[in-house]
Amino acid sequence: MGKKRVYTFGNGKAEGRADMKELLGGKGANLAEMNLIGVPVPPGFTITTEVCTEYNELGHEKVVDLLKDEVEKAIAHIEGLTGTKFGDKNNPLLVSVRSGARASMPGMMDTILNLGLNDEVVDGLAKKTGNERFAWDSYRRFIQMYGDVVLGLKPQSKEDADPFEEIIDKLKEDKGIELDTDFSVEDLKGLVAQFKEAVKKQTGKDFPTSSYEQLWGAVSAVFNSWSNARAVYYRRLNGIPDEWGTAVNVQAMVFGNMGNTSATGVAFTRDAATGENIFNGEYLINAQGEDVVAGIRTPQQITLEGSRRWAKLQSISEEERTKKYPSLEETMPALYKELFDVQEKLEKHYKDMQDLEFTIQEGKLWLLQTRNGKRTGAAMVKIAMDMYRDKLIDEKTALLRLEASKLDELLHPVFDSLAVRSAKVLTTGLPASPGAATGQVVFFADEADKFEQTILVRTETSPEDLEGMHVARGILTARGGMTSHAAVVARGMGKCCVSGAGGIKLDYHARTMTIGGRVFQEGDWISLNGSTGEVYEGKVETRKPDMSGDFGLVMELADKFARMSVRTNADTPKDARIARDFGAKGIGLCRTEHMFFEGERIKAVREMILASTTEGRKKALTKLLPYQREDFEGIFEAMEGYGVTVRLLDPPLHEFVPHQQATQKALAEEMGVPIEQIRNTVADLEEFNPMLGHRGCRLGITYPEITEMQTRAIIEAALNLKKKGIDARPEIMVPLVGTMKEFKLQAEVIHKTANKVFEERGDKIDYLVGTMIEIPRAALVADDIAREADFFSFGTNDLTQMTFGYSRDDAGKFLPVYLDQGILKEDPFQVLDQKGVGQLVELGTKRGRGVKPELKVGICGEHGGEPSSVEFCHRTGLDYVSCSPYRVPIARLAAAQASVR
Ligand code: PEP
Ligand code: MG
Repeated sequence: MGKKRVYTFGNGKAEGRADMKELLGGKGANLAEMNLIGVPVPPGFTITTEVCTEYNELGHEKVVDLLKDEVEKAIAHIEGLTGTKFGDKNNPLLVSVRSGARASMPGMMDTILNLGLNDEVVDGLAKKTGNERFAWDSYRRFIQMYGDVVLGLKPQSKEDADPFEEIIDKLKEDKGIELDTDFSVEDLKGLVAQFKEAVKKQTGKDFPTSSYEQLWGAVSAVFNSWSNARAVYYRRLNGIPDEWGTAVNVQAMVFGNMGNTSATGVAFTRDAATGENIFNGEYLINAQGEDVVAGIRTPQQITLEGSRRWAKLQSISEEERTKKYPSLEETMPALYKELFDVQEKLEKHYKDMQDLEFTIQEGKLWLLQTRNGKRTGAAMVKIAMDMYRDKLIDEKTALLRLEASKLDELLHPVFDSLAVRSAKVLTTGLPASPGAATGQVVFFADEADKFEQTILVRTETSPEDLEGMHVARGILTARGGMTSHAAVVARGMGKCCVSGAGGIKLDYHARTMTIGGRVFQEGDWISLNGSTGEVYEGKVETRKPDMSGDFGLVMELADKFARMSVRTNADTPKDARIARDFGAKGIGLCRTEHMFFEGERIKAVREMILASTTEGRKKALTKLLPYQREDFEGIFEAMEGYGVTVRLLDPPLHEFVPHQQATQKALAEEMGVPIEQIRNTVADLEEFNPMLGHRGCRLGITYPEITEMQTRAIIEAALNLKKKGIDARPEIMVPLVGTMKEFKLQAEVIHKTANKVFEERGDKIDYLVGTMIEIPRAALVADDIAREADFFSFGTNDLTQMTFGYSRDDAGKFLPVYLDQGILKEDPFQVLDQKGVGQLVELGTKRGRGVKPELKVGICGEHGGEPSSVEFCHRTGLDYVSCSPYRVPIARLAAAQASVR
């Protein structure tokens, strides 16, 4: 016997099971399982996801050959259970054909209902049911769906109407009626004739009459729909691999449109928005599934309580509600009770919130689908914790139920759901930093406080914009990727940011931005959704998320299981405190260059850079020292009792000098030097490739006085706090090391300076000196480096940049194309490339620990807050991950999940 491609189910038996999702898809596996646990499901069969792959390789003809025998047997199985016959004109079997992938992709692929009808069968159906109207209504729906999905009769352009809807609308107009339900039998017959004519006209062929021909056409269409644009887009968005393929489910039709004892609906076992434990959903009497979704009629609520809540929101009186929109609980109390019991049974069985589809055919309830329901971040947390409290699931299961990245929704302001529904999307960029923001447009960071609520719009941002970024409600950039300056800094601040919105053209002189031909002035209102990358026109109301007690419980459970600890990337006491409140146990990366920009300091920094002698530099550095010391005191205090990794200066010096004529002139006047001197130095600092140039420890090697000053500031700060009884634990980190000697030389400067300060003060503290591993060579010679270093921290931003050879700043130009063409599955600057860059992390850790088993190892690149990367770090044996403050809870949960898995 060859490979099994078709699995049948029906009448309480099934060849499949719930745990066969990979092969049968989610829908197929659950249809089988529902049979096995005694839930009423119309009989049918599932063609496996593997056949979808075969279809993509072999094409229609060959796959039909492969399937023919099994499908014919499976149809006979349905015929046996229903006492009907496929294609029979007296007693016909009609089927639905639906997609169903391993992971649910709601609405992304195609469905065909009422398959098996033709001009003769429709008469048989009318006679058999004694309901001519129903038979013809089913027929016209079938031609419409089949014509669209299988035969490709779609609107010609986006402005055109659907060809079938056009015919329907014309008839409605001619007859002066509004609702589909007002069509007479003759009208429906007329529609069928016109539909078939339209098919013939556009495809040159008659509408297929053979039921098997119809079936094979539909099966192929479902397989094809796996590759349609919206399915591909959905997969990319949700990280679903293209190779999975969809299954096809063929099932005996049950009809919700057979009159007033029939209905169809969808329901959730709990509230998908809030997580509240109440059964809820919508239904329509005398309708087929698509009517509920399509919004042609107003769906009614299933429960009485839900119905009353709904009416209140809609300002509908109780009298009107009971007359026009009664609940299922009121209209069909016995069936409601049966449905209620089924939903309870399903939730208990699956131990998760279920999303159900059901149909009532002439007083008999059928379930067509059950799946774990999609839910908001808040609902996700509440449902998992409620189920844990109710002992439906244990602690570990509760933790694994949570999607770590969704915790984010609980931490940032969100758009008011009603307000955002009517908002107009202007353009879309990258969802660089989540949350919602609304404000008036400003184009310059130093004008971010021009209005009360502003959105800072820039081509891209630079460290000079920091303060303005802090002040603005949100940041929008036309260029730059997910690790662009704007994105990294915004995430660090927990500020909403959309980056790389290429549809925006800026004119700084005119103070305008143009989006799709429309010009926006400074002061115009726009809104950003940092979670989706959408940019909206105008002011869209936002609200603060509520952090319920369940959130705390999740974090408590997470800490119980996580092996790795979570630190934060923070450069200010404020950020350090936020992160500590979110549960950070220390700072994994304090980027000191950010401290150089604020207020008066930039002057001293520039003086240092522009000094032509060591003496001059030292003089300027002396001015900087107190600022740095003060900053460190604040940060150490905020992180009292925990390690704080301070990184020595990293960026190339040209980032700190002015590039515009006017600012150069002002600086020259201030310093009392000719402008040429400034200009020459700026030109001197210019590099062809600054990312690979004079930065990182290369600065400290060429200008050891910078390392000296920073070390002194760190050690003095810690000693000052010690005097006050505050436990500061500095860890000094040398950036961008590629050879052992670089590290060793810098470590010598650090130790020498520290000892000098100890001597001066007559006091001591413990401190560590370690390095970042962010150059591939450093990972390769990690054993050499570990002999000298107290700790490693993987800087996976640079490590990714240098391993791929993709510039962090310029990758935005080609990465979208690479993702589009499937060259890369994910942006490697967001999701750690485990296969390539990951090897360097593994190797570096192994070699380092080989010579120093107790070597402390962490990660501080952006990947430290991304769940799949956190899991990788756990497996690799890292001691901690470090991420921006607002991602700390996500990383804590991801670390716990990695331990539990
Ligand atoms: C890194 O390279 O991963 C890192 C954390 O440093 P930066 O992003 O500041 O270069
Ligand atoms: Mg780096």
